Amino acid sequence: MKKTNYFVCPSCTNIVLTTGDVTLSCCSRNLEALEAKKATTEEN
Ligand SMILES: [Zn+2]
Repeated sequence: MKKTNYFVCPSCTNIVLTTGDVTLSCCSRNLEALEAKKATTEEN
């Protein structure tokens, strides 16, 4: 089961989907990896 991450560049709003642990940069800055959330109900 691969982990899917997505990156959103705050400067140009470029969105990149990746799998696995990678580091991306865009507009001369590192992008923060966000885990793709599954459509599940939240449990508190
Ligand atoms: Zn960018």
